[in-house]
Parts: sequence; C-alpha cells; structure tokens
Amino acid sequence: MAIRKIVLEGDEILRKKSKPVEKIDDKILELIEDMKETMYKYDGIGLAAVQVGILKRVIVYDLGDGLNKGVIINPVIKQRKGKQWCEEGCLSLPNVFGEVQRPAKVVVEALNEKGENITISAKDLLAVCLSHEIDHLEGILFVDTAENIHEVMPEDIQK
Ligand code: ZN
Repeated sequence: MAIRKIVLEGDEILRKKSKPVEKIDDKILELIEDMKETMYKYDGIGLAAVQVGILKRVIVYDLGDGLNKGVIINPVIKQRKGKQWCEEGCLSLPNVFGEVQRPAKVVVEALNEKGENITISAKDLLAVCLSHEIDHLEGILFVDTAENIHEVMPEDIQK
C-alpha cells in the first residue's frame, strides 16, 4: 500500500471523463487500498481515482461516523430527490470552500470491490459526498457550480 500524490486543480486530467472498470483485478484492488490510505492521510471524506491520476470510475468514501464508508465502482445515480445546500471542499482544491446545491437524497447503483451489485440510498452528507465524487468521474469540480467560493488558509483552521 502507498499514499498517492493528489492531483490539484489546474491539471487537465481532472477535467477528463473516467472510464468504466471492466475487470476488478489486482491492479484495481491495489488502487482502492492506496486511495483509502491517501484519503485518510489527507482527512478527506471521499476520493475519486482521477484525483490520484487514474481515469477509472472508482470512488472511496468514509464519512468518519463508523457507518457510511465503502468503495463504489462504476457508480450510477439512479434517483435524485429534493435539494440541499452544503459547504464543500475538495482535496484537489486545498483551502477552497463553497456552497453547492445537491440533491437531498440519491440512490446509487454500483459494484463493490468484490464485483457485487450494490445499491446505496444516501441522504444528507452522504448524498453530498457521493454526488461530489461521481461528478469527478465526469470531469466536474464543485467550484463549477458553487456559490460564495472562498479560501480558508490552514492557519485559520483549528487543528
Ligand atoms: Zn473532490
């Protein structure tokens, strides 16, 4: 396992569309383990493979509540309901925050790392997180639609 380098905004790979995973082989499993390690290292709640420079439709997430965490491969949003506003950040745009309108609830179908079909009914922060990460697979960043975009320098954030 290894911590991978996070691709920052300005790198054009973040604007590219990620490709579906056709086979969950050892290379993909290693990518998933590295993505988890990288997400935890940088205190993210989600990470898409493109953020470590791999154009594959793989996402890891962990809200840190002990419940809402996992891996989704080739995810598709099947349902969107309602609206919510949430202040978001992104490991590819360090120190940048903004308010984004997201669905209040989403239903996501995907594969897990064993290749099994899974369905996630997400609301609140999980709906935000999964929507944000799935946007990454399409080359979309939260700042594309965010309002009140502002920078917060690390020294202003209480550790
Ligand atoms: Zn992001």
